[in-house]
Amino acid sequence: MTKRATPPPTPDKGAPVAPPTPPAWRHYLWLIALALFIGLYFVVPATSTKQPVTLNYTQFLHDVTEHHVRTITLATDGTATGTLDNGTSYTTVIPSQAGQTFLNQLEKAGVQITATSSGTSFGAEVLSWLILLLPFLVLGYLWYRLSRGAAGRLQGVLGVGRSRAQLFDEERPSTTFDDVAGYEGAKQEIREVVDFLRQPERYARAGAIAPRGVLMVGPPGTGKTLLARAVAGEASVPFFSVAGSSFVEMYVGVGAARVRDLFQEARKRAPAIIFVDEIDAIGQRRAGAGAIVANDEREQTLNQLLAEMDGFDPASGIAVLAATNRPEVLDPALLRPGRFDRQVVIPLPTLMERKAILEVHCRGKRLDRSVDLEVVARGTPGFSGADLANLVNEAAINAVRAGREVLRSSDFDDARDRIILGRREGSNVLLPEEKHAVAVHEAGHALVAVYSPSADPVAKVTILPAGQALGATEQLPLFERHLYSEQYLKDSLAVRLGGRAAELLVFGQGSTGAANDLAGATDLATKMVREFGLSATVGPVGYPVGGSVFLGGGEAFSSRPFAEQTQAAIDAEVSRLLRDAESRAIDVLKEHRDVLDKLVSLLMANETVDGSEVYALAGRAAPEGPAGMTVAPERAASATAAPEHSA
Ligand code: ADP
Ligand code: MG
Ligand code: ZN
Repeated sequence: MTKRATPPPTPDKGAPVAPPTPPAWRHYLWLIALALFIGLYFVVPATSTKQPVTLNYTQFLHDVTEHHVRTITLATDGTATGTLDNGTSYTTVIPSQAGQTFLNQLEKAGVQITATSSGTSFGAEVLSWLILLLPFLVLGYLWYRLSRGAAGRLQGVLGVGRSRAQLFDEERPSTTFDDVAGYEGAKQEIREVVDFLRQPERYARAGAIAPRGVLMVGPPGTGKTLLARAVAGEASVPFFSVAGSSFVEMYVGVGAARVRDLFQEARKRAPAIIFVDEIDAIGQRRAGAGAIVANDEREQTLNQLLAEMDGFDPASGIAVLAATNRPEVLDPALLRPGRFDRQVVIPLPTLMERKAILEVHCRGKRLDRSVDLEVVARGTPGFSGADLANLVNEAAINAVRAGREVLRSSDFDDARDRIILGRREGSNVLLPEEKHAVAVHEAGHALVAVYSPSADPVAKVTILPAGQALGATEQLPLFERHLYSEQYLKDSLAVRLGGRAAELLVFGQGSTGAANDLAGATDLATKMVREFGLSATVGPVGYPVGGSVFLGGGEAFSSRPFAEQTQAAIDAEVSRLLRDAESRAIDVLKEHRDVLDKLVSLLMANETVDGSEVYALAGRAAPEGPAGMTVAPERAASATAAPEHSA
């Protein structure tokens, strides 16, 4: 059924109220107006002074000798006006030949004489000038309005070369370094740059040159913009903040003009800090000679930026901060010393940093005693600062939904599941036999994990569907790993295939539910063979997949750097690893078939089973992790075993 155009919804306004009936005299208004008009028409002319009469010279002279003329005003052009005895005014023209005798005549007749210099009055003159100048005045005003930067349609054209940087000067953001949890190293480096600006002499005495630029590099949501805001909040120098994309406009040359403008402004107010967010918008690699499409505008902008960064001498007291999550696309010229000579990597937070970020965002919220932020942090590997902020907020919303003001640990659990898996569906969306199948599958994952010595401990098993997943087995690593042993990876493969193994064992056949597990396991196995050199047949070679460290992928463009036979060998090895893992999983489950059945019925009854209960069923002690093993900041390249195995 297609959507049909529906009538607009009835507005929620209530019944319309009729306007009050108009008074009856309204109909006479027209008559009154007409009468007034007629009255005025006759009365007004009568009250005004009599129409001036026009006299010719002979009539005028006659009136003068008869003593009928009271006053006369003589203009230089020969016209004369005045009043007669009876009060009427007159106009006449005096011939220029009249001369002195005429004046004597007037004097004798006792006429009051006035002379004016010109025919037109001063007022009339001003008016005529005004009318001439008016169009120019209007144009001038419009120009002033438009060029003043007020909003207007032509504004984009007229003010296009101006930089759009926001200046934080007296009015600073309230963000401070305290709001940025963790990243002590990065904060230290950035603080130093600010310190340089404030007391250049101190560094000059030691012969140190101030760094011109600091480039913050890291995945999205790790707090790069937040750090810059903190600098703006704490540095006691003017802070210009601008997004890289705001340099890019429709018109070629605008970006360069804006860069120039920005640096000029900063130089005027030095010492100052310029922050360019998302610098990859302008800083992308310039096209080489072989490029098909060159982006003139962006290249000009970048060239201008490079020139400006070279141009200011270190003593001028300007530092440039920039942030990007795509360092690999940046032009090498931008990265060479003398421009951004410091690069600060802001990675995804470690366990302890996650805990600190959670603490920052839990400030001002009331937490129940059951909440252990370290546990929350343990359960959120791979979360960025933004994800964690979102998590805390979701938890608070969960509490409000339950009518509480105090956040409990269950709120955090739900928020986390919701973020990772999606919204929980009700428990009755599955058919009973589907529910059983999911229970078998998840129990398989959980038990293989419990019986594998190197696998991460099981924290929770559930057959409540959420988002794309029909059920989930959560494993929480005891501590944050930076290195993964071969045994750990093999166990991880077995755990991923454990769901399918249980299905094969119990039902004698697989199902579609294992598709995600298989994809994840294959990916991991491929990496083990191709990148980590963990296969005896292929040997100690590594062919890492190119592309961004942070965004993954990039395979579409890279050609395969090895021979066809090598590919075949890799495929064979991957398949062997997966088969080994599957048979291991099946063996484990066969051996503990009774525990598997018990766990399945427990899941069918309770839908969610805690990790400790699983260990109790299996007759094993839940592993305890050594505390405080989470310091090293470097993380090993990928290979992170996902904490989830969705059915
Ligand atoms: P990006 O690195 O993409 O610029 P942002 O700085 O915009 O990320 O961070 C987004 C949000 O994530 C911040 O507003 C803040 O709430 C949260 N956040 C990120 N990192 C941290 C951190 N280290 N401490 C506290 N909050 C953080
Ligand atoms: Mg940002
Ligand atoms: Zn699964």
